[in-house]
Order: sequence, then structure tokens, then C-alpha cells
Amino acid sequence: MTHRRYATSYCPRCEQMRRFTKRAMESRPHLLATVLTLGLWGLPWMVLARRNAARLWHCCVCGKHRKTLAPYAEGYLAASMAGSAASSCTSLP
Ligand SMILES: [Zn+2]
Repeated sequence: MTHRRYATSYCPRCEQMRRFTKRAMESRPHLLATVLTLGLWGLPWMVLARRNAARLWHCCVCGKHRKTLAPYAEGYLAASMAGSAASSCTSLP
């Protein structure tokens, strides 16, 4: 129940703007499970969500890891989530 998220940010190793990616958890199946189990699934979901939040972003080109990206990247992220589902590390530099 994971998918990949993408964002563009400055990579200090490449020394230019690069695409970053990280694995992200899908909320919908967990929400459904929580409703179906009358809230019981909420606890493991919280544990999984915390673990998911700790995942690092990594540069699609050099693989450099970053804990957080620049704030503007989140706006790009929201736009890219709503847009093409065909995003991948290989489609852009
Ligand atoms: Zn890089």
C-alpha cells in the first residue's frame, strides 16, 4: 500500500535542481480498514504513518538522501500528485 511521491528541489551533490522521490503510504485503504474495524485499525495506521513520515527523499540522479526538501517543493508535489500519474525518476532529469 505504498506509492512514490516526487518533488523538485536543489541537490547539493549535483549542484542543480533535481527530481527527488520517496515512498509514500496511501491513506485510502487504511481509512477504509479503520472504518471496517470500527476504529481498531487506527492504531497500527498511526504507527505506519509515523514510520512513513521518517522516510528520506532521495535524488533521482545521484541518490543523495535528504530529510526534508525546500518548502516550495511541497507545492510542486501537490501539483504533481494531482497531475500525471506517470511520473517517474527516469522521465525527467
Ligand atoms: Zn543529486
